[in-house]
Amino acid sequence: LDHGQDVAGPTGPSVLIDTSKPHPARMYDWYLGGKDNYPVDEELGRQMLALDPRVPVMARVNRAFMHRATRWLAGQGIRQFLDIGTGIPTEPNLHQVAQEVAPDARVVYCDNDPIVLAHAAALLHGTPQGATDYLQADVRDPDTILEGARRTLDLTRPVALSLIALLHFVPDEDGAHDLVRRLLAALPSGSYLVMTHATADFTPEESAVATEKLKAGGVTLTLRSREEFARFFDGLELVEPGVEVVHRWHPELGEPVPGQDDGVIPGYGAVARKP
Ligand code: SAH
Repeated sequence: LDHGQDVAGPTGPSVLIDTSKPHPARMYDWYLGGKDNYPVDEELGRQMLALDPRVPVMARVNRAFMHRATRWLAGQGIRQFLDIGTGIPTEPNLHQVAQEVAPDARVVYCDNDPIVLAHAAALLHGTPQGATDYLQADVRDPDTILEGARRTLDLTRPVALSLIALLHFVPDEDGAHDLVRRLLAALPSGSYLVMTHATADFTPEESAVATEKLKAGGVTLTLRSREEFARFFDGLELVEPGVEVVHRWHPELGEPVPGQDDGVIPGYGAVARKP
C-alpha cells in the first residue's frame, strides 16, 4: 500500500491503515467531530453534507439511540452485550453506558476495520466487576465472532446483540438477514436484538444520489425499507414502540441531541426479545 499509515495497535503490533480510500468507520468519526479520520474520509463526508447538511446530526441521533437502548437493556437485567460494527471509540462507549447501570456488565466489541483495532484500547477500560474485550472480525463470519465472544460471554445466558448502523454496509448478496438469524440462533431465549439501519423511505431522491456518490468513493450502502428492516426481527418480540425512526424510540431515556428538530431522520431503530 502506497498510502498506508502505520498505527500502533492496542497491544503493541502496528496495524496498517489504508488512507487511500474512505472507510465508513472513519467517515462516521468525522461526522461525530472525531480526529481518527483522514482527508479521503473528510472529502467524501463533505460530499454527503452537501447533499444533506443534517448528516452530522444523524450520526449523533444514531449514537444517542445506542445509549438509550443500552441503558434500557441494562435496566431489564441484561448483563452481556455483543456489539458488532462498534466504530471508532466515542465516549460514552457502550460498555460505559451499560456499566453505569450495571457495573458487572460484560461487553464484547467487534469491527472489521483495522482503525477500530488500532483504537480499541479505549474500549478495554471498564469497571473491575465487569469485562470488555475486542475482536477484529467481519459480521459475515458469524462463527468466528461467536467463538471469540465465548472468551468473555456465557452464551447460555441472555445476550444483547447490537448491530447499530452496521447492516446497511452488508448487501443482500452477502445474506444480511441470514447472518442475523445465525448470530441469534447461538443466543438463548431472553436475548435481545438491537438495530438501527439507514433507509431511503423518506428521502428517495437524495438517498439515491448519496448512494451513488458513496459507491463512486468505494463505499457500498444498501438502504432498506421499513419492511426489509422489520424482517430482521422475524420470530422476535418487538419492544414497544416497535420499529420507529431512530430518535422516536424511547426519547425519555436520554437527552435530546442538539440540532435535532422533529424532522424525520432517515433511519429506523428497534429492539426485540428472543422468545
Ligand atoms: N455502531 C457504531 C458505529 C457505526 S459505523 C455506532 O452506531 O455508533 C459502522 C461500523 O461498522 C464501522 O465501524 C465499520 O467499520 C463497521 N463495519 C462495516 N462493515 C462491517 C463488517 N462487514 N463487519 C464488521 N464491521 C463492519
